[in-house]
Amino acid sequence: MKKKVIIIGGGMAGLSAGCYLRMNGYETEIFEMHNVPGGVCTSWRKGDYMVDLCVHWLVGSGKANSFYNRWNELIDMGNIRFVDHEEYARVEDENGNFIRLFTNANRLEEELLEKAPEDEVEIRRFTNAIRRLSTLDFPSEKAEELANLWDRMKMAWNILPYMGLFGRYMRLSNKDYAQRFKNPLLRKAVTNLFEPDMTVIFSMMTLAWMHNKTAGYPIGGSMRFALKVASRYRRLGGKIHFDSRVEKILTENGKATGIQLADGNRHLADYVISAADGYSTVYKMLDGRYNNPELQKAFENRPTFPSLVFVALGIGRAFEGEPHSLLFPLCTPLMVDPETTIKDLYLRIHHFDPTLAPEGKTLLSVMIETYNYPFWQKLHEEAPDQYRAEKQRIADSVVHALEHRLGDISAHLEMVDVATPATFIHYTNNWKGSFEGWLATPETGMQQIPRKLDGLENFYLCGQWVAVGGGLPTVLLSGRDVAQLICHEDGQPFVVTPPVEEGKHEKSKIIH
Ligand SMILES: Cc1cc2nc3c(=O)[nH]c(=O)nc-3n(C[C@H](O)[C@H](O)[C@H](O)COP(=O)(O)OP(=O)(O)OC[C@H]3O[C@@H](n4cnc5c(N)ncnc54)[C@H](O)[C@@H]3O)c2cc1C
Repeated sequence: MKKKVIIIGGGMAGLSAGCYLRMNGYETEIFEMHNVPGGVCTSWRKGDYMVDLCVHWLVGSGKANSFYNRWNELIDMGNIRFVDHEEYARVEDENGNFIRLFTNANRLEEELLEKAPEDEVEIRRFTNAIRRLSTLDFPSEKAEELANLWDRMKMAWNILPYMGLFGRYMRLSNKDYAQRFKNPLLRKAVTNLFEPDMTVIFSMMTLAWMHNKTAGYPIGGSMRFALKVASRYRRLGGKIHFDSRVEKILTENGKATGIQLADGNRHLADYVISAADGYSTVYKMLDGRYNNPELQKAFENRPTFPSLVFVALGIGRAFEGEPHSLLFPLCTPLMVDPETTIKDLYLRIHHFDPTLAPEGKTLLSVMIETYNYPFWQKLHEEAPDQYRAEKQRIADSVVHALEHRLGDISAHLEMVDVATPATFIHYTNNWKGSFEGWLATPETGMQQIPRKLDGLENFYLCGQWVAVGGGLPTVLLSGRDVAQLICHEDGQPFVVTPPVEEGKHEKSKIIH
């Protein structure tokens, strides 16, 4: 008889683990505390607009990257229309100067040389690194734990030509690397390629994927994409329970045996996977009785991605000629909360996706980063009126700033929606309201965190709290790996069955 696996969390990692386990015949049940799948890969309807939170780019959107094959194991990638932006982002200063960060490395080089000729040497190094990294691929068919000597040698061989680049850039953050440029606007652009404290090699790899047109945006947005994976999971026969918050992971003699929900109901299984928030898994669901040294160290001092105050606006007009992604200076700094003041605003103009707004209208969104989740959480719990007032204050400030930069905003304002760190915690339970788990910094590197906890059998972790750096392809792989590890533990081959058109037979492929 096939064994049963309980998966905590119906985000992309949990859905991925569920799909692969179903392909291998396991009985699976996902318990998700929210009433929709997808976790932070989400969108929601507000008035006439679809507010899109998550996906900016999906690594593996094109065939040049082997993540394409991984996605294709879950969903039919040929059926998704991707947009490959010409610009990654546009960065402006207070004097009206701007730099266009083109996704094509050659155009990027031309633009940077034109705008910052004094930095020619470093610009050429930067764009050469991007071009060079565009041939790097990580074809990952096997979970790291199962890799034998031959697999490790192949991996090392694969990465060998890039070791020089990794050696040069891995230990530099975006903000440290930016100091190599003399031009202030270029320094600002490089600092903000991604999180300023993240290793610059991560940003270079992202630009390399975009150069290859393999990190596009899926039309329809985050929720539509997540629903495709959820629907595959259901077609494979997987069960998913919504509004089901897991409170405890049941254990017996050092083995996970099931879960207990907030309503007191218990469910038993042969294996339990937590694809939910890492901190609450270890310290609440398991009462801190099991851990592993790397994870414990991470909880003690590893930096996380920040949380967000996220402002979405529905504007009843078009924004022709404006870039889709813009970092521009505010006339006066904006105090977001007592520990956070910003001088620039990061705006997305979602005019590249017609499904998010009625014709002729546009969804705008602004991501404001903050680590001060306790402030928002406390306000939300203890002073709801003040919480609402603060959200309104920030929305008003954003509208004012956009009025100044783009003009004609207030008169066309049709929808306003503000999410705060308290919203992130409420809907996803993610530690500190972080939007993407652990940051990959020069100090931490990109090494993954072990997926097992010491002393606890029949239990695995997957998702962004073990897959360092987070991101959709990374958590997809993390779910796949855990399914593979379970198959291995049971001494059975790991089989992958890509989706097929209706009426045709699915073809399975044995991976090992
Ligand atoms: C604003 C934003 C932009 C992003 N942009 C990109 C991008 O462009 N490209 C990219 O690749 N990635 C991007 N990411 C990151 C990516 O979306 C995440 O890393 C990934 O979706 C995380 O998936 P996950 O399943 O590990 O975690 P989550 O999505 O957090 O899923 C965990 C699930 O567990 C559930 N849960 C938690 N606790 C419990 C419990 N006790 N009981 C039951 N259920 C529980 C939660 O409700 C949630 O559904 C972005 C994320 C954000 C927020």
